[in-house]
Order: sequence, then C-alpha cells, then structure tokens
Amino acid sequence: MKALAFLIVTLISISGLASAQDATRALINVAGDVYRWQNNNHFGLVVFTNSGVVVADPINADASSWLEGEIAERTDAPITHLIYSHSHADHASGGEVFADTAEVIAHERAPDDIVGVFVDRRVADVDSLTVGDKTFEFTFLGEGHGTDLMAVVVRPENVAFVVDAMAPRRLPFRDMPGSNIDDWTNQVRAVGDLDFDILSPGHGNVGDYDSVAEVVTYMETLRAEVLAGLNAGKTVAELQEELTFDGYTDWLGYDDWREANISGTARSLQASGAVN
Ligand SMILES: [Zn+2]
Repeated sequence: MKALAFLIVTLISISGLASAQDATRALINVAGDVYRWQNNNHFGLVVFTNSGVVVADPINADASSWLEGEIAERTDAPITHLIYSHSHADHASGGEVFADTAEVIAHERAPDDIVGVFVDRRVADVDSLTVGDKTFEFTFLGEGHGTDLMAVVVRPENVAFVVDAMAPRRLPFRDMPGSNIDDWTNQVRAVGDLDFDILSPGHGNVGDYDSVAEVVTYMETLRAEVLAGLNAGKTVAELQEELTFDGYTDWLGYDDWREANISGTARSLQASGAVN
C-alpha cells in the first residue's frame, strides 16, 4: 500500500507540474489565515479555519484540482465550504472538485446549479456564517456586473473578497458588458459601505480600503466627462480621442479598456436617457 500511495502521490505531483507549466498558479498569503489563490488572471480565496478549510470560487476543474493538492500539503483538515462570489462560469466552474465534501454557498439569486454544482446554502442580501474561528460576512452588491454578485468579508482578518465589480487601481472591464455605468458604480459604492482593511480581488492586485474610493472617483469622472462630451454633440470616437484620463495611465486595463470604458459609458447614458 505504501508503494501504491507513493505512486499516486508521484502521479499527482507530475500532473501538477504538467498543468503548472500551462497555467500560472499560486497560493499567496494575504493576512493571518487568509490566502488568495491564482489561476492565471483569476483569483479566489482560501481560509484555513480551526475546523476546516473554506474556498471561495473554484475557477475551473483543473485549477481546483491543483488547489486541492496545495491545501492537502498544508493541512489534513477537510475543505468544508465552497463559496461562490457569483455564477459567471469563468470564476464558478469546477466546483464539483470540492462539492463532495464541502457545503456549497451562493447568493439566493444564484441559479439552482452553478455550472453543474447544486447550491446547498443560499444566503440573504446581508448574511454571515461562522466556521470555526472565522466569520464570513456576505453582502449582495446589487445588479450591475451580474445579478448574484456578493462580497465576502473574512474576520478577524478583515479581508474583503470582491470579484469583477472592481479591483484596486484597475479600470472596469471593457465596455461593462451586460451592465451600465450607474449600476456598476453602485456596486463599487456598495463595496465602500463594507468594513474591512484589505481588499483581495478576483482579478489584479491586493489593495486597501481606500482603493475603493479611487475606483468610484474614476467611474464618476468617466461618467461626467462622457456625459458632458455627448451633451456637447461629440461622437464616441472623438471622446475616445480626447478623454485620456491622464491620472490613471498606470492602472491595470488602461491601455486595453480606456476606449471601451468610454463607449460603454456612452451606450449606458444614451440608453438611460441621461443625454440631452
Ligand atoms: Zn463575472
């Protein structure tokens, strides 16, 4: 049996190395017992409590299998809970890797099954769960990016896990597909209503509480300048030429998404009747 166990461990290690060559993966301490885990451009959360391990967002099956191995190297404790930030497949695939042992948690607006995994516990707009020595506070961020997006604040570390609505010093995604500037900005404001010290996002870099207000300011500036330009009779192409938002040139997404932010905001404002 020892030989078999060794063989299995070796095979898992080899497969881990093989997939690690294809994907950038890491398990990174944020604070205390709270870690973020990376699969290329996507990040989830891992919390080691004294009564089991809590994972937020499975991302995909290959990544989750890798994470399961990483967790097993650090603790014999089981993975007891799987939390979904929201049901978008790029963050929410692969939950079946954990669902056999873990209680599956999502917002009450989430679909019955999330990419094939059934939800065990649906949380209200403001809700919380205690697991061992940690508390998880859930807050629905409203409609905007998605319809079932919630923030998770872990205590006592006071780490907020926020996916897609915002990330520190990062522009909103492309032209805010499926949403509009006002709903999306309100989601970011809702993050600002939370009480936390460290923001661990689903994309990009870790930041502090003040990073939320910076993003709100960018989005308010974006909205105001696009609206003023449209009201002055300018075209979207002209605004994309003129509005360079020079204070944000070092933010993630500036080069790729600035023009799309402008066109998406123009689309939102025209659809809502805000333009004169
Ligand atoms: Zn999403």
